[in-house]
Amino acid sequence: MFRIGFGYDAHRLVNGRPLVIGGVNIPCEFGLEGHSDADVLIHSLMDAILGALGKGDIGMHFPDNDPAFKGIDSTLLLKRVMELAGREGYAINNTDNTIVAQRPKLAPHMQNMRDRLSRFLEVPPDRINIKATTTEGMGFCGRGEGIAAYSVVSLVKKETK
Ligand code: MG
Repeated sequence: MFRIGFGYDAHRLVNGRPLVIGGVNIPCEFGLEGHSDADVLIHSLMDAILGALGKGDIGMHFPDNDPAFKGIDSTLLLKRVMELAGREGYAINNTDNTIVAQRPKLAPHMQNMRDRLSRFLEVPPDRINIKATTTEGMGFCGRGEGIAAYSVVSLVKKETK
């Protein structure tokens, strides 16, 4: 039994914040603004998983006015979403993701992101695809005002004894 979910997220780029995408720290003079660590890829991924489960969105589960989530490492939130998936009897089958960013160059960090996410998603890195694109200077991503991410996830029902 399969389920499919879709997620989207965007965060503003500002000076003086770390840039964390896919659980990886990317050396950069600017970073993403947000209540948590603003990991745009993990946020869209979590929304895709919650979508596949029929369990709403991350704003419902981790409200951005809750001080408990201030500055939190998004991998900890991903862990909780995966625990929920496990309780519902589902495991990740595969996921495909697109990051939209004019800069910095993300290609050198893709394999790191896949390796890091594979630990939390409990699947081998080849089940986790991550792509990056620019928008040729168009829109808020193209102007370097922010970074967006899109995620699709398929879940598979775990075998029961
Ligand atoms: Mg977000």
